[in-house]
Amino acid sequence: MDTSRSHALFERARSLLPGGVNSPVRAFKSVGGEPFFVQRADGPHLFDVDGNRYIDYVGSWGPMIVGHNHAAVRQAVKRAIGDGLSFGAPTEAEITMAERLTALVPSMEMVRMVNSGTEATLSAIRLARGATGRTCIVKFEGCYHGHGDSFLVKAGSGALTLGVPTSPGVPKALADLTLTLPYNDFDAASALFAQAGADIAGLIIEPVVGNANCLPPREGYLQHLRELCTQHGALLIFDEVMTGFRVALGGAQARYGVTPDISTFGKIIGGGMPVGAYGGRRELMEQIAPAGPIYQAGTLSGNPVAMAAGLAMLDLVSAPGFHDALEANSNLLCDGLEAAARDAGVPFTTTRVGGMFGLFFTDQPYVDTYAQAVACDTAAFNRFFHAMLARGVFLAPSAFEAGFMSSAHDAPVIEETIAAAREAFAEVRTA
Ligand code: PMP
Repeated sequence: MDTSRSHALFERARSLLPGGVNSPVRAFKSVGGEPFFVQRADGPHLFDVDGNRYIDYVGSWGPMIVGHNHAAVRQAVKRAIGDGLSFGAPTEAEITMAERLTALVPSMEMVRMVNSGTEATLSAIRLARGATGRTCIVKFEGCYHGHGDSFLVKAGSGALTLGVPTSPGVPKALADLTLTLPYNDFDAASALFAQAGADIAGLIIEPVVGNANCLPPREGYLQHLRELCTQHGALLIFDEVMTGFRVALGGAQARYGVTPDISTFGKIIGGGMPVGAYGGRRELMEQIAPAGPIYQAGTLSGNPVAMAAGLAMLDLVSAPGFHDALEANSNLLCDGLEAAARDAGVPFTTTRVGGMFGLFFTDQPYVDTYAQAVACDTAAFNRFFHAMLARGVFLAPSAFEAGFMSSAHDAPVIEETIAAAREAFAEVRTA
């Protein structure tokens, strides 16, 4: 595979951008090698600057749930652009977006649009602290909630991949206010609340973890956290930046039937434009400025082009049967990968929840804790990643990221992926 143009671009990028990229995991640092540079994308495929085609299971890290460059989203953006790019004054599209979000996610009676998942989660914990008058935040080992200071404590995603889950630059006084728990451990959560419950403003969780590989919640676990928060007067925050509109139309809260106080969203609601949102009960959201005193603002928030893209995307994922079909795709892929690994004699298992999935190089039959995820064979994953890339399949370039399915990944595309995996697993075994 010729990648000479990508290589030349990476050389140029490295002298100008830290690590050659604008977001760490893109640099391929943990899997080794160099990233390809994208020319364009269409449906399930990315095309690089050397003309190579890849089946893409990253999907811009989540937004591309209907595949790349979908005509309906593109048309909506073109229409919006005709009227101007940003006004800094209210538009009707923002109300339509809020109506759609509050209808699809009933725990959100009111919503505030922001520009990224990071902004959404930062704002959510400020709201939790402001509303409760308490200072501590609880998060889970391996969960990633963007790069806000309070979250870069035992964080997942790139922070975990690069071996800096707790980032330099976060003042100790602030990091001390972030208490951490092992995901899916019922007793640890009970014990922490028994000890520190009166100081906890909010507990934030990825209800299905997608930033430490893909870890589904154990039966009753989210309910247990709901009960602890209610009992101790803390707010339950579901970070649905990844799970929102992906594991079910109403997100993880709909899938598992647990109602958070505050929810955060991103990715899919922007349709590929930079967007985030947070929302919750009216009585909480009315404490946000200018309705209330808790300050949060944004020059580009509710941007008209982003609203148009997001609304078009929400239309598409609201089609009847959309999420059942997506889940069937995930199962087809993961069942096929497991069979291919078994035939090749490679210890391997998967998890799948709706349109997200995890790949684990381990002899354990099922993985749903952070400790299990980090104990997997990352060297085997890295070899598999490159063996797949060489065959035109792009997986997330880290063993600690979920994979993303899209509705554009039809059966032939998935069969092509599994055929590539049969050869790739054989390479992993013989290496
Ligand atoms: N929360 C979760 C669960 C995420 O997966 C991410 C990004 N991967 C974020 C928050 C941060 O979103 P952004 O990168 O848009 O700031």
